[in-house]
Order: sequence, then structure tokens, then C-alpha cells
Amino acid sequence: MLRCKKCSSTNVKKNGLTAAGRQKYHCKTCGIHTTTDAAARERAAKEALVDKLHLERVSQRGMARLTGMSRSTIIKRLKKRPSARLVQR
Ligand SMILES: [Zn+2]
Repeated sequence: MLRCKKCSSTNVKKNGLTAAGRQKYHCKTCGIHTTTDAAARERAAKEALVDKLHLERVSQRGMARLTGMSRSTIIKRLKKRPSARLVQR
């Protein structure tokens, strides 16, 4: 059974989809609306993969193909991590 991540109540109902097609949930006990942790985990895993590919000097287009993320998302991610850009060989 699904649990609310804020109050751990099991009184949680499905509540439509996000624009990206992920299932949204509404907790009837504390009232928060949220998506599952699975969506956040998937995003974090992809971002970690981008960081790794970047260290291997994979091109931005190559990263887009391998991760399925858009190139603009990847560029935004790389700009947030300037330290990764300065790694010496
Ligand atoms: Zn709750």
C-alpha cells in the first residue's frame, strides 16, 4: 500500500497525471499533492549518468541520445555543475 511521504498515512488516493504523464497522488490526511518517489529517483539516476558521461567527455548530443533527456536539459544540468567541467585528464 502506498504511504504519504509527509505523514506516512495510507489514506492516499490517485489524483490525475502530471503534464509529463506521471501519476499524481493526494493524501487525504495531511492534504499534500505529490508524485511518487520513483519519478524523482529516475530523474536523479539520469542526472548522475549525465555527470558520468560528461567526465568521459561524451558529447552533449551523445548524452542526449544515451539518456533520452533533451539537449537543453543536459546543458542546464552541466551549467549547474561547473566543477565537473574543470576536471583535468
Ligand atoms: Zn499525508
